[in-house]
Amino acid sequence: MSIDLSKLSVRTIRDGLASKTWSAREITQASLDRIAATDESLHAFNQVTPELALAAADAVDARVAEIEAAGGDLAAELPPLAGVPTAFKDNMNLRGTRTTCSSKILSNYESVYDCTAVRRMLDAGAVPLGKCNMDEFAFGSSTENSATGPSHNPWDLDRVPGGSSGGSAVAVSSAQAVLSLGSDTGGSIRQPGALTGTVALKPTYGRVSRYGCVAFGSSLDQIGPFARNVEDAAHALKAMSGQDPMDATSMSNPVPDYAAAVRAAKVDGMKGLRVGIVRDMLDMDGLDGRIKRRTEEVVGIFAMLGAEVGEVDLPTSQHALSAYYIIGPAEASSNLARFDGVRYGVRATEAEDVMDLYLRSRAEGFGPESIRRIMLGTYALSAGYYDAYYGQAQRARTLIIREFAEAFENYDILVTPTSPEPAFKIGEKSADPLTMYLNDIFTIPVNLAGNCAMNVPMGMVKGLPVGVQLIANHFSEETLLGAAAILETEIGFDTTPPRAQ
Ligand code: GLN
Repeated sequence: MSIDLSKLSVRTIRDGLASKTWSAREITQASLDRIAATDESLHAFNQVTPELALAAADAVDARVAEIEAAGGDLAAELPPLAGVPTAFKDNMNLRGTRTTCSSKILSNYESVYDCTAVRRMLDAGAVPLGKCNMDEFAFGSSTENSATGPSHNPWDLDRVPGGSSGGSAVAVSSAQAVLSLGSDTGGSIRQPGALTGTVALKPTYGRVSRYGCVAFGSSLDQIGPFARNVEDAAHALKAMSGQDPMDATSMSNPVPDYAAAVRAAKVDGMKGLRVGIVRDMLDMDGLDGRIKRRTEEVVGIFAMLGAEVGEVDLPTSQHALSAYYIIGPAEASSNLARFDGVRYGVRATEAEDVMDLYLRSRAEGFGPESIRRIMLGTYALSAGYYDAYYGQAQRARTLIIREFAEAFENYDILVTPTSPEPAFKIGEKSADPLTMYLNDIFTIPVNLAGNCAMNVPMGMVKGLPVGVQLIANHFSEETLLGAAAILETEIGFDTTPPRAQ
């Protein structure tokens, strides 16, 4: 049977298993075949794991047989993500795989335990296809900082897919996978979502356990899903959310049935929803005029659907980028201290003493952007400068948190573009880190404030997808997903990229 993966969703895969239209093995084989046929040009994956995938698929098929033998109801009893081909960013541990963070220093590192979010997806029936390419240690917005080379945007192979979770975005947008997980410290799920035309969600800080995901900025990082539609993202979020004893920052808030919230929103509509367009962000220099207009049109759609639309300013957010490039590197420099050539990964072969071994292993193992971040963070935290930089950045962060809290007194959803421009050419920005950093200007304030936010594809600009960012209050993922689902139906964006058809 030929299976068109670009047409499959979490729900249709499960329905097809229940009606015996296909087996999990057939779906999985179709995914593996598609990866084999396309990944040479896309480079979404650092490692493909056919054995793990087929074993997981066979376990789902065995479960189907078991439920049938017991006279059970397949549609009711199959696990929620049964047979869904899923890819994981290469900073998430999974036994039986390498976890390299696309860094030379971890190129030989074999996972010895499972990341909680990954484990929960697999326990819900997801099939692990492999580990996705990323910017080294999640530093970047294009995947060009990967030691294994850049990923390519399925809409135009000469362009970047965004980053740092670029490989995860490519896997889903090119229909190699139905779901994937990324991590977002300053925009690394939402920005690649925008550049590849995928639904991409950063949950509230504390919604999803960070255990087993290699840390970049521990107060900012959050794992979240990529999907080709909002309901699929909701299924993934439900599977991975909830408190985890292994992560003290994971919260005990109950995990609602997000997919049910999506379906309910589609019926109930937008009446009463308060939507604020962030005016000063729309007037920011460097925002592509066509993206600005499209964002305003999207707000028009909200109004047409019955939402109460207003304007809001977030003036302190203009300092978010500066604060982030102190706080993020400060936390990263501390988190990356553990990679010393002794405890993890690659070790320099020649050294005079242990200090020399550390220095050489790190100099050989880290790429230029990682070294830049470590230096920036170490400098900002050094005794003489701590107050001037780190202290000041933390004060700015507090103001940003308050500013969002005030905005959410009047609004349920805030709207901005996700990225200031569509996908850029590979190599176009790699020489100038500052222009690269500007790509996350709309996404970074949300990480500092800890809110949830997502990219929803909002159309095309010159043959390339562009996305709108919806932001909601802490733990308001149901509202966020509901609004996104209604918008998705109204916009009718076809997430199937040309190469995948
Ligand atoms: N592009 C931003 C950075 O380079 C965000 C990365 C991320 O979210 N991991 O830090």
